[in-house]
Amino acid sequence: MTDAVGHASGTPSVVDRLAAPRESRIPFSVEFSPPRDAEAEARLWRAVRTFEQMRPAFVSMTYGAGGSTRDRTVRVTGDLAETTTLLPVAHLTAVSHSIAELRSMVGAYADRGISNILVLRGDPPGDPLGPWEKHPDGVEYAEELVRLVCGLGDFHVGVASFPEGHHRAPDLETDTKHLVAKLRAGAEYSITQMFFDVEDYLRLRDRVEAYDEEQGRKPIIPEIMPITSLRSVKRAVELSGSRLPSAVEKRLEHAAGSGPEENRAAVRAIGIDLATSMGERLIAEGAPALHFITLNFARATSEVLANLGLAAPRPEFASDAQASVLPRERAAPAAAS
Ligand SMILES: Cc1cc2nc3c(=O)[nH]c(=O)nc-3n(C[C@H](O)[C@H](O)[C@H](O)COP(=O)(O)OP(=O)(O)OC[C@H]3O[C@@H](n4cnc5c(N)ncnc54)[C@H](O)[C@@H]3O)c2cc1C
Repeated sequence: MTDAVGHASGTPSVVDRLAAPRESRIPFSVEFSPPRDAEAEARLWRAVRTFEQMRPAFVSMTYGAGGSTRDRTVRVTGDLAETTTLLPVAHLTAVSHSIAELRSMVGAYADRGISNILVLRGDPPGDPLGPWEKHPDGVEYAEELVRLVCGLGDFHVGVASFPEGHHRAPDLETDTKHLVAKLRAGAEYSITQMFFDVEDYLRLRDRVEAYDEEQGRKPIIPEIMPITSLRSVKRAVELSGSRLPSAVEKRLEHAAGSGPEENRAAVRAIGIDLATSMGERLIAEGAPALHFITLNFARATSEVLANLGLAAPRPEFASDAQASVLPRERAAPAAAS
């Protein structure tokens, strides 16, 4: 039960869901983004209904930078909580928010029955890799926001982790220290940045365990993006400050061909194959769940889930058209799967 800002008790936590008995090999979850317009919202709901039948452990909704996007995020995430059987996790960032506004956002989520929040600092609007500027009455780091949200009531908080290290961290040791600080501040789990080399995930897990055994027992949920376009994945990787391993890039470039338009079918086939083999290895290595970036399309993720034996394929998919991948705030996905 929340005390200061609203009422959100009674919903399970992400960690409860990961530990729940299940028939499949491993739980999975999916990430959605707030739609920009009515058409995008209809597409989102088609994906939501498709995934709902596959029983993900939870679904998360990203948080954009703009005011109207933010209102839509709360509305759509609230609708997920109220009109589906899914467990929504609302992302929340500190970008351009005073502490009073952050409290009120948490209250708005709680009022819609949402108690699972993924707490993030966010990136500077415009240029995600540009200099970070704290709101004068806001917070500097996600760790402070974790404390704030945990102090507002009975919320279940997750945070971001970075298999390759956060792009602003000077080294992996410092990156680990800051991740562990967020976990010690009350976060119950982390979800990683997308990555394409499973070794990076395994080394992150080793680092956290070595730094703090207790915090190292908290789930680190690996995030997978099934690639369906070379151009889009290159952009997504650039904006998130992560890296496409050169072997993967070469394979995709070869498939894309040298024509003016990339060979999307060939790139997509490699993307599905790559996501499937990453999933297999992560399951074998004991990952607690697999979290998929969907860009509000069901098809590619569903194929990977079917390949992994985590969900049966479904016939009714949204269109397969893809345009671009936005940075993490991914306010309005125009890309597809
Ligand atoms: C799973 C996931 C979901 C995401 N969802 C969204 C989203 O919905 N919307 C969005 O805008 N962005 C999202 N992001 C992107 C995220 O906001 C950015 O990657 C951001 O740059 C880092 O956020 P953070 O919460 O990790 O920040 P922090 O943990 O605050 O870290 C930011 C930087 O500060 C350093 N640092 C942390 N604490 C300290 C300290 N005490 N002293 C000095 N340095 C410190 C860290 O090492 C890091 O370099 C997501 C990222 C992930 C992995």
